[in-house]
Amino acid sequence: MTSAPVAPPRTSRPAILESIDPATGAVIAEWPIHDSEGVAAAVSRARVAASVWRELDFEGRKRALLRWASYLSNHADELCELVLRENGKPAEDAYLELVLVLEHIDWAAKNAKKTLSPKKVSPGLFMANCEAVIEQRPLGVVGVIGPWNYPVYTPNGSIAYALAAGNAIVFKPSEYTVSIGHFYADAFAEANPELPLGILSVVNGYGETGAALVTSGVDKIAFTGSTATGKRIMAAAAANLTPVLLECGGKDAAIVADDADLTAAADAIAWSVASNSGQTCAGTERIYVVESVYDAFVEKLAKNLRNIKPGSDAKAAYGPMTMPSQIEVVRRHIADALDKGGRAIVGGLDSIKGSYIEPVVLVDVPEDSLAVAEETFGPTVTVRSCKSIDEAIELANDSAYALASTVYSRKNGMEIARKLRVGATSVNSVLAFGAISTLPFGGVGESGIGRIHGEEGMREFTRSHSIARQRFAIPGMELLSFSRKASTVSMIRKIIGFRHGRHT
Ligand code: NAD
Repeated sequence: MTSAPVAPPRTSRPAILESIDPATGAVIAEWPIHDSEGVAAAVSRARVAASVWRELDFEGRKRALLRWASYLSNHADELCELVLRENGKPAEDAYLELVLVLEHIDWAAKNAKKTLSPKKVSPGLFMANCEAVIEQRPLGVVGVIGPWNYPVYTPNGSIAYALAAGNAIVFKPSEYTVSIGHFYADAFAEANPELPLGILSVVNGYGETGAALVTSGVDKIAFTGSTATGKRIMAAAAANLTPVLLECGGKDAAIVADDADLTAAADAIAWSVASNSGQTCAGTERIYVVESVYDAFVEKLAKNLRNIKPGSDAKAAYGPMTMPSQIEVVRRHIADALDKGGRAIVGGLDSIKGSYIEPVVLVDVPEDSLAVAEETFGPTVTVRSCKSIDEAIELANDSAYALASTVYSRKNGMEIARKLRVGATSVNSVLAFGAISTLPFGGVGESGIGRIHGEEGMREFTRSHSIARQRFAIPGMELLSFSRKASTVSMIRKIIGFRHGRHT
């Protein structure tokens, strides 16, 4: 592993945004920053493009989305190289991220029609002369604000589905991954040169640019990032009642039951803890193990995590921390855990080596310490022994965050999963829900509001339009009219009494 200097935190706000390689601190690109006028121009252009995109209908949009996916697939090496340089992620991990992106675009393209086609519903007894239909309409222009940790996968969870539903997008990538954001969005235009520009466009900048997008009059904001920023966005969006979808932070727990396959659990959970330098919203940060298997599990987990090293070479298991300020958060959490009586059985404070952090496993850490209560977002984990599976469930649920979770149990995985207060659970695997296009993804509590992926995720980017069409008039049954007769209401009273008044 090579130890590299930590790039300086980006506190200043020049008119140009420098894109920096987190492994070397080198500037790899410069981007002009969009102020509120620039954002407004992008939204106006998107509004014009939205009408063309909407008129293409499902089949036309499907073809355009699949061409986009093909372009991304055919330029995978270029994109992965860029992700390695701008985000620090090993090229192989970048490729796996792209695979998920392609699968989600494919699913959204091919399933929008089925998910969003008009649906006839029952009009009920008293409105039997009506046809009742629910139609889904695109919202118009959706503002998407993304993070840096999965710079393609996370925004794509909103963008692909919102596009498939007929919306245009203005995308503000994280200030740490602007070039990746451009590559991803430009690919759409490259693959579809006949379509107007502005169906998917990018605005560059820091939080101020994101804030301008929130108040720009877009029809929805889909945000992925920290809980603190999510709260600020929701407050700002309230001024215009702009709807928000918030995919925020997590403090995900893994539960290991006494009947778990401990080797498989220790292998997969080690990956969930440390891959992507632990910078995974739904990665494991707390582990609760039933006491009868605690020692055996901890030994296997520690062995797995001792064996992996971060770096920027081909053998590295993961790369540098993308955001320099996160290194201090990780340091603070480890220090607080050790101060409060915790022990590091793998690594410790000296695992932080410049912008690389080697894995750290903490045990005997009180539940009120930062390492258990707050999102760490580094390759560290706490492990605790529990008297019973019920205690493990109770501790896992005792968190303000409630994004996702993992359960290892041969026999009772589903039963344990059902008792967890989270948006998603992987049973006998980790993070599997994120790779399945049909499963909605999103959090509870401080982890967010709304869902991406699947049918539910697609409907997030539509509004339902209910249409009741009277097919014929029933003589003497004009209930919604001043010409209604007393005898009609008296007849209705009898029917209602029979229908609703006989249940004891
Ligand atoms: P962040 O909140 O710092 O930034 C996210 C985005 O919001 C960036 O593009 C940023 O420029 C923008 N932003 C900042 N202030 C803003 C404001 N006032 N108005 C509008 N936009 C603003 O988050 P981050 O550090 O980029 O990402 C890491 C966080 O994202 C972690 O908490 C992680 O758990 C979370 N995350 C969640 C999910 C999920 O699906 N739930 C997925 C990935 C990451």
